[in-house]
Amino acid sequence: MFKVLISDPLSEQGIKSLLDAEDVQVDVNTGLSEEEIIRIIPEYDAMIVRSQTKVTPAILAAAKNLKVIGRAGVGVDNIDINAATKAGVVVINAPDGNTITTAEHTFAMLLSMARNIPQAYKNTTQGEWNRKKYLGVELNNKTLGIIGFGRIGSEVAKRAKAFNMKVIAYDPYLTEERAQKAGVQMGSVDDIVTQADFITVHTPLTKDTRHILSTEEFAKMKPGVRVLNCARGGIIDEKALYQAIVDGKVAGCALDVFEEEPPKNNPLLELPQVVVTPHLGASTVEAQENVAIDVSEEILHVLREQPFKNAVNLPSVPADVMEKIGPYFFLGEKLGQFVAQITVGAVQEIVITYSGELTDMDTSPLTRTTIKGILSYNLGEGVNYVNAPHLAKTRDIKVTEQKSSHNRGFTNLITITLKTKQEEKQVAGTLLNGYGPRIVEIDKYSIDAAPEGHLILIHHNDRPGVIGRVGTVLGTKGVNIATMQVGRRDMGGDAIMMLTIDKQASPEVLDSLGELEEIHSVTEIDLL
Ligand code: NAD
Repeated sequence: MFKVLISDPLSEQGIKSLLDAEDVQVDVNTGLSEEEIIRIIPEYDAMIVRSQTKVTPAILAAAKNLKVIGRAGVGVDNIDINAATKAGVVVINAPDGNTITTAEHTFAMLLSMARNIPQAYKNTTQGEWNRKKYLGVELNNKTLGIIGFGRIGSEVAKRAKAFNMKVIAYDPYLTEERAQKAGVQMGSVDDIVTQADFITVHTPLTKDTRHILSTEEFAKMKPGVRVLNCARGGIIDEKALYQAIVDGKVAGCALDVFEEEPPKNNPLLELPQVVVTPHLGASTVEAQENVAIDVSEEILHVLREQPFKNAVNLPSVPADVMEKIGPYFFLGEKLGQFVAQITVGAVQEIVITYSGELTDMDTSPLTRTTIKGILSYNLGEGVNYVNAPHLAKTRDIKVTEQKSSHNRGFTNLITITLKTKQEEKQVAGTLLNGYGPRIVEIDKYSIDAAPEGHLILIHHNDRPGVIGRVGTVLGTKGVNIATMQVGRRDMGGDAIMMLTIDKQASPEVLDSLGELEEIHSVTEIDLL
């Protein structure tokens, strides 16, 4: 008999599969303190939490029988993942349960905005009867631009088509075949901003998507355009949006998310064209039930040693393999994140080459962590160690794992080659005894840098004074350089510079660096 502790409130319908299981005993015991959980946890095989229970290292240390923790939701900030992995406890979440709910909320916002429903409601309940003021627009025959065509974006498209809208979608992973199947037109961000009557964003918040709609994009939009953000605050530049509304370019906007939540002194909230909700995208009875259903089913799979798909960590690797390969996980994941951020375009092929002592090991778990690192840059929280290879497959990304006797003098070496439609990039890293993980090569330039924190990669001509000018720009902008590494192939030829800086550089700082003579490109990389 497996014992499952449910320590945060969940609907009974959501946990039905556990309640019905003959080999499971469920105890619902909510509102417990850390001490109380520590006292009772040794008898449990599984635990389900929402966001209230904090699963601390002390709880995990006491959890002698625990095999799995389920988070009924997406974010796992309330669970100490490292401590869980060390304790051999699988952590699973439920990334799919709120897709429809969020797509429906986006559509509710779209209609509310088009027909001024919140404004008219407020006005009418205040005793007015103002029919002219709230003249709306139809969705019929209008163009909806969707930036980010993943789970939610594609569901929004289905609803838009039912309203006879034309849909243009942009997503680096959207193929012509998938677009055709979904009945949407594939386009660029530029196509969307110049052609759409309504624009909605459904991407994660990354360096590439932050302010993807900003002053330049608003300037190109059709007058009277309406925009929505039900994804993450910061994807649309709020200052630029405010200005575009005040200037009369944008006729309306609908926001469920904000750069700062809850919004404080946000001037957008004072504009009559703005429709807002307090991050309600995933808030429905069904979504809360769905995440509980998903997590309960996954818990059963883990307890019964059946395949499961949503693990956030990877403690299921056999202990002897883990002992040898575990230290490389961080390196593989960070190298993956690094190469994804320096490469332009949608990934088509990943080649991971292991050399040195890694050739004698079972590297398949390491390949998973590396693919997760690469994909998480574009796919955010939805990627985990278990589903990463599957997500790569569904996006037609070819993954090759190979072993090579060519170790270039390192006792161990992981080399990742990333191919997109536009370009091919390569990065190599090693685990140095006593120094930890290091990036040792970027596109055949030798380098020695720790894969962590905020980095800036600069391609430049190897000329006297370039390094000094870069230091001066950063110094005058108040950006402190922690480390600097230079790599070159030939004296006076092309070279690279990699800087570690104390805080994220603003786009203005990056632009100022890019304008320096002898500098070809500047890329910021965050490995947090
Ligand atoms: P998803 O991973 O299924 O889809 C995201 C898509 O964005 C992917 O297809 C990815 O390729 C694409 N993308 C990444 N970078 C891009 C770029 N630079 N340009 C265009 N597309 C890019 O995720 P999802 O489940 O559809 O969620 C989408 C967003 O909605 C996420 O930010 C998620 O956090 C958010 N969300 C919000 C709520 C809410 O309460 N408002 C609820 C659920 C999800």
